Amino acid sequence: MEFLTLSPVSLPQRLVELRARVREFLAEETAAGRIAPHCDQWLAGWDPGFSRRLAAQGWIGMAFPKEYGGSEEGALARYVVTEELLAAGAPVAAHWIADRQSGQALIKFGTEEQRQAFLPAIARGDCYFAIGMSEPDTGSDLASVRCRGVRVEGGWRISGTKIWTSGAHHAHAMIALIRTEAQGESRHAGLTQVIVELPDPDVEVRPIKLLTGEHHFNEVVFHDTFVPDSRVLGEPGSGWKQVTSELGLERSGPERILSTFPLLVSALEYVAGAGYRVDPVALGELVSRLWALRQMSLAVAGRLEQGEDPATAASIVKDLGTRFEGDLVDAVRAMAGVEPDLESAQKLPRMLAESILHSPGFTLRGGTNEILRGIVAKAVRTS
Ligand SMILES: Cc1cc2nc3c(=O)[nH]c(=O)nc-3n(C[C@H](O)[C@H](O)[C@H](O)COP(=O)(O)OP(=O)(O)OC[C@H]3O[C@@H](n4cnc5c(N)ncnc54)[C@H](O)[C@@H]3O)c2cc1C
Repeated sequence: MEFLTLSPVSLPQRLVELRARVREFLAEETAAGRIAPHCDQWLAGWDPGFSRRLAAQGWIGMAFPKEYGGSEEGALARYVVTEELLAAGAPVAAHWIADRQSGQALIKFGTEEQRQAFLPAIARGDCYFAIGMSEPDTGSDLASVRCRGVRVEGGWRISGTKIWTSGAHHAHAMIALIRTEAQGESRHAGLTQVIVELPDPDVEVRPIKLLTGEHHFNEVVFHDTFVPDSRVLGEPGSGWKQVTSELGLERSGPERILSTFPLLVSALEYVAGAGYRVDPVALGELVSRLWALRQMSLAVAGRLEQGEDPATAASIVKDLGTRFEGDLVDAVRAMAGVEPDLESAQKLPRMLAESILHSPGFTLRGGTNEILRGIVAKAVRTS
């Protein structure tokens, strides 16, 4: 079962040095008070200033070609940088989606004009994207999207509603999956991806609050919104193939194991400082699980670096990883003996509260664990 193989990856010296530079940069940012660690910052830590400073280091668009403002350093170099950012709990949400998947979609399927229009701005940390896949009655069964595009002169008029759209209230563009032909025999035919530039007077963005009260995602309503032909991504009707390739990138990164890592660090600092006795077995179990997951996640990045599509292996790592993220919260909660408090000036109670309130989303976002297991089961059955 080749598709399940996760061969160990050892990082070359240039990436060990890159990691040291990223750590130094993050230590300076922290010492200057420009950033502070929080959990789940790849989702909720929106800070354009930080994104631009990161871009100035060459750490956004690392997998983009140089002609589009990228550094062409590849998937493993990007892995090292993103891993350090997540471990530090740095505010990376603004550029995260554009850097991880929208930029790659433009490279793979976009026109030259689209690449020039968006990729250099993404790599500068100036241009942010949202993902327009889910709809009120369409999440897991993505092929059933009901947002419709009707052909008009020079483009398409789109109508319908997207939901859970992370960052749509700040983003400069959204890649939306819409139905442009009536559903025929194949449910996957007749779907198209379009780039909707934001804000747009015919796009209504309604906030949905997280349990913490933060405005993170949205309901987005298209009111007969005009999308010119120049903003169709790829060929009309090829949306399904494109969106599944994008999902592979969405599911395969270290953010699926490290969303609550700053909580673990904070708990370890707390127990060390307070001389608090923790159950060494519980702690050892968390750290060893994380270590194994990290090797698996790195191996997925190694396969991306080789130009492979590790979708099945990534599904396994995301399932195991997101469960670990939640288990970590439960374990720290039981172990540390502090009250979770979002307003606390102390790190541990604050991070515990953030993690508890964000944790319901861990196993849902990017495809639920049940769906991921279905993908793995199908791959095994057909192998
Ligand atoms: C924090 C967060 C951020 C998000 N950001 C975005 C975003 O930016 N853009 C975007 O498009 N979407 C986003 N989503 C939406 C996310 O992708 C969906 O929530 C997810 O795909 C599940 O879809 P659903 O909510 O419609 O649940 P449903 O599909 O209705 O599923 C409900 C339950 O039924 C189970 N289920 C469904 N079908 C099957 C099946 N065939 N076999 C077994 N079990 C099944 C599911 O596992 C789940 O437990 C976000 C979600 C969260 C939580």
